Amino acid sequence: MKCPNCRKEMVILELDKVEIDHCLLCGGIWLDEGELELLLEGTLERDKLLASFKINKKADEKKRKCPVCGKKMYKVLCGMEKKVLIDSCPKNHGLWFDRGELDQLLEMGGIENKSKIYSFLKDLFGKKVLK
Ligand SMILES: [Zn+2]
Ligand SMILES: [Zn+2]
Repeated sequence: MKCPNCRKEMVILELDKVEIDHCLLCGGIWLDEGELELLLEGTLERDKLLASFKINKKADEKKRKCPVCGKKMYKVLCGMEKKVLIDSCPKNHGLWFDRGELDQLLEMGGIENKSKIYSFLKDLFGKKVLK
C-alpha cells in the first residue's frame, strides 16, 4: 500500500493481531477499518473517544486520498479536551494518522503507559513525539 502523504510504499508492522501500515519516510500510520477499535480495546475512555469523532468540513489541512480506493478522505476531528485531526476514508476503508497522531489518540483513550502498543509506538517514534 502506498503512503497517502508521500506516495512511498509503506511497510507492514504487526502488533498483537493488528497489522499497521507505516510509512518510514513521513512516519504516518494507516489503520484498516476496525483496527483502531482493536488497539483501544480495554482502555478507559474507548467509547467516549470513538464517539467524539466528527467530520470537519472546514479543516484547511491538505486533503489526502485513501490508499485503498483513492477517494478523497474526510478530515475528522477527534478527542475530548485535546483534539487531533485525522483523515478517514468516506468508504470506511480506514484511518490515516500523521506522525504522532496515533500516539496522542491512544493516550486520550487512556491507554496504559506500560502497554505493548504504547511502548511499540514509543520505540518507533522516539520520545520526541510523545509528550
Ligand atoms: Zn509517507
Ligand atoms: Zn477508501
